[in-house]
Amino acid sequence: MDFVIDSKGKSLFLILSALSLALLVTIAALLLWLASPRLHEMSAILATAIIIAAVAFFLIVTVGMVILFAVCYGKRPIGPFHRLIRFSINVIFQVNMLIGRLLFIPKERIEESFVKVNNAFLKAGRQRFKAEEVLILLPHCLQNHDCSHRVVNNINNCTECGKCVIVEFKDLSKKCPVNIAVVPGGTLARMMIVQTRPSCIIAVACHRDLADGLLETFPIPGYGILNDRPFGPCMNTDVDIGKVRRFLDHFVISP
Ligand code: SF4
Repeated sequence: MDFVIDSKGKSLFLILSALSLALLVTIAALLLWLASPRLHEMSAILATAIIIAAVAFFLIVTVGMVILFAVCYGKRPIGPFHRLIRFSINVIFQVNMLIGRLLFIPKERIEESFVKVNNAFLKAGRQRFKAEEVLILLPHCLQNHDCSHRVVNNINNCTECGKCVIVEFKDLSKKCPVNIAVVPGGTLARMMIVQTRPSCIIAVACHRDLADGLLETFPIPGYGILNDRPFGPCMNTDVDIGKVRRFLDHFVISP
C-alpha cells in the first residue's frame, strides 16, 4: 500500500513561493537596471559578470521552484534535483514569511503549509533508510507535565505509567532500532544530530520549531509531524504515533 501523507494545505506555501520569486526577480532586475550605467562606467567586465551571476542565480532558484511544483502537484519523482529544490526553498522561505505578514496570513499557517510541502518533497525522493540511521526527535512537552522521570537523556527512564505518549515511543524503540531522543530545545536537538549522524530525521514539534528545524537540518531528509496541543503550547502535547509507524513501515528497509 502506498504511503499517504497529509499534504492538504501545501498550496499556500507554493503560491507564496511563486509570488516571492516574482518579487525577487523584479527587485533584482530593477536594481540592475538602475545600477547598470554606473557599473559599466566602472568596468564593463564587472557589469557583465554581475548580470550573468544574477541571471544564473535566479535561473537556478526558478528551476528549483518549477521542479518543486511538479513534485508537489504532478507527483513526479525528484530525481537528482534534491539539493537544487532545497536551495530554492531556503532562498525563498523568509520572503514567503514577509509576504505572508504583509497579507495578514498567520505565520503558523505558512509554517504548516511548508511542513506539508517538505513532506511531499520527502515522499517524492523515494529514498529508503536503515532503521539505525533514523533519528526521531521528540519535544519535551510530550512528556506528562507532572512526571518526575528524566526522559530527556534517556527515553528508557520512562516507567511506562501510560499517562503520556512517551511510553509508546519507548515501546517502539524496543521493536525497531531507530534512535529516539526527547529534546527540550534546538541546542540538544543539534547535539543529537551531531552524535547520531542520521540519514533521516523524523521530527515532532510545533509549527515554528518544525519549520526552522527542517530548514536547518538540510541536506538531511526530514519528515515533519506537527504535535497536537490540547492544553495550549508547550504543555502535555500529544502526537499520533501511527504517523511515525507508517513512515517507518514505508521508508525503513527491513533487516
Ligand atoms: S508514560 Fe513515562 S514519561 Fe509519560 S508520564 Fe508515564 S512515566 Fe512519565
